[in-house]
Amino acid sequence: MEDTLYKNLFNYSDQAIIYWDKKLNLIKANKAAATLYGFKSPDEMIGLSFYSLLSESEIDLIKRLNESIENNELIRVFEKRIISKDGVKWVESHVSPIKLKDSFIIQEIDYDITERKKIEQALTFEKSKFENYFNMSPTINVVLDRKGCISDINQKALEILGVSKSEVLGLNWFDNFIPEDIKENIKKVFIDMVNGKIKHVENYENEIITKDGEKRIISWKNSYIIENDEVVYVISSGIDITREKKYLERIEYENIFINEFIELSNKLLNSESDENIYKIIIDNLVEIIPHAQAGAFVLLNDQGEYEYKAMNGYDIKHFTDVRLKNELNDRNILEPFLVENWNKEYTYPKSEKDIFDKYGKINEIKETLYIPLTVKGELYGAITLDTFDNKFENYEFNFAKIIKANLDFLLWKIQANKQLRQAAEFDYLTKIYNRQAFMIKIKDIIKIAKRNSMKLAFIYMDINKFKTFNDKYGHNVGDEVLKFFTKKVSSVIRESDIFARIGGDEFIVVLNNADYAGAKKVIEKIQKSLEDPFVFEKLKINISSSYGISVFPDDGENVDLLIEIADKRMYEYKNKSR
Ligand code: GH3
Ligand code: MG
Repeated sequence: MEDTLYKNLFNYSDQAIIYWDKKLNLIKANKAAATLYGFKSPDEMIGLSFYSLLSESEIDLIKRLNESIENNELIRVFEKRIISKDGVKWVESHVSPIKLKDSFIIQEIDYDITERKKIEQALTFEKSKFENYFNMSPTINVVLDRKGCISDINQKALEILGVSKSEVLGLNWFDNFIPEDIKENIKKVFIDMVNGKIKHVENYENEIITKDGEKRIISWKNSYIIENDEVVYVISSGIDITREKKYLERIEYENIFINEFIELSNKLLNSESDENIYKIIIDNLVEIIPHAQAGAFVLLNDQGEYEYKAMNGYDIKHFTDVRLKNELNDRNILEPFLVENWNKEYTYPKSEKDIFDKYGKINEIKETLYIPLTVKGELYGAITLDTFDNKFENYEFNFAKIIKANLDFLLWKIQANKQLRQAAEFDYLTKIYNRQAFMIKIKDIIKIAKRNSMKLAFIYMDINKFKTFNDKYGHNVGDEVLKFFTKKVSSVIRESDIFARIGGDEFIVVLNNADYAGAKKVIEKIQKSLEDPFVFEKLKINISSSYGISVFPDDGENVDLLIEIADKRMYEYKNKSR
């Protein structure tokens, strides 16, 4: 009965059952085994070796089996790949020894696990694929738990942060790698997000701080691992965009710089007053160059010393008498360069050193951007731009080159314009206004006087017997007399008064806010100053002149008329004094 029952079980079982002898040759197999291995009937299998049914890749299994048979023990359950007529299959083998009288045989029951194995393999493949991606990807990958502590972190992230994995696992991301000033805010957003208080943030940008204290800007993308409607992990993938950001920032700076510099160039080209130009330039450059916090404009004098023309961030009144040696440019560098330490790179004369220590913040300067100014390869001045808590960036150094190229041209042009204007406006000999310039200027002055209800006194002057100086001593001496006379008159009148050479030995002075009485006083002063004789080589000549006065608006409002009246009165005076 038991025997029949067993036979049925053996024959009709779904599980493949195989018996091996001690040498691992097949003694008996059931129908399911034949099906599993792809035989038509179990009989075809009898005598086959364990080896012949096994995939090559499982070959060391035989060794293990033989070893365990020798040691009288058997592996109970193992997985193996077998060769079926349909190809390779995975089976889970349950192996047990069956003791006979003086030997034993081996019973093997197999389950086909090919499908399960396939799925399992696919899963492992996916998993290792993910792990591989997570670790090797060029992005910074960090897995944070609900508290914001690091559960996993990849190679790239470790590299950027400058830490090892074992050092940071479990640490709070925000407390350790987010800059102090934004930490609390970002942490709060994270916690609110994890707790569902706010929507999941997918993309954002923030700074992180590395172990060395360096800040990097990271652009993040988040994904969430959710179990039972609850976020359990946040996977953040980030790209380090510090360089790109810096680059963009630089382009922005460059844009601003170029625009502002063009504006400055225009301002300079159209600028009327020459004296202000150095101040305008230095103020604008300190403003335009991002790291510049102070600066100076210096010009070389004939002795090759620097004189301060304008300053920003320093009080120029302490520097008016300072004459610095042109030492830095003994190196003959005509292009911009950086000075890192003035005390090291420049030897001050003692008296100047004190001024620079006291008023020049020389010990606080971190770096100076030094821009030599040249015309046709000849040095004529320099601009210094100082920074106190930073260094200049490379792009600022490039700005300096642009500045130099443009300023060299601009200042040359301004200088040329000035000379042209002077030639047009001023008398070549006496350097006071010529007739043309006087006729233009006086019209504006009359307008201003009219608006302010002020009087103007015109004094017409002519040197007495001037022709005789020419005739007696030569034209040269006549020229010197004209210069002498001009100097004497200039020393008496005010700067706001107008003094012009109308022609030959005739001059006009227009006194601001003065009438006859005022004009008479000025004439007296001139006459007094002319009591000093003109001295030339061995000559001593007494100079005198005649005067005629007219007053605006008392004598009229028309310039030509006022000149005519003064001229006429001057002749009356001359005739009278003869
Ligand atoms: P009066 O007392 O009447 O004014 O006699 P005067 O000799 O001064 O006569 P007048 O004013 O007519 O003489 C002007 C002379 O000045 C005529 C001209 O030869 C001379 N002159 C004009 N321009 C110059 C100049 O640039 N240099 C010199 N050396 N002489 C000049
Ligand atoms: Mg004369």
